Amino acid sequence: MKFKCPECDGDIEAKEVIEGEILSCPDCGAELEVAKDKKGNFELKVAESEGEDWGE
Ligand SMILES: [Zn+2]
Repeated sequence: MKFKCPECDGDIEAKEVIEGEILSCPDCGAELEVAKDKKGNFELKVAESEGEDWGE
C-alpha cells in the first residue's frame, strides 16, 4: 500500500496497515495515524501527540 505524507508529500509504503496505527514518515519524521475516510479507504492523518501527555 502506498500513501502520501500529508506533511511533506513524500511517498510512504506500508505492507499492511491497521486503523489507528501510527506510522512515521521516513522523509520528514512526522507521526501519521492510519484512519479511514468515508468511503472506507485508508488515509494518513498527522498524529497530534508527540509523546506529550496533556492529562488533566
Ligand atoms: Zn513526510
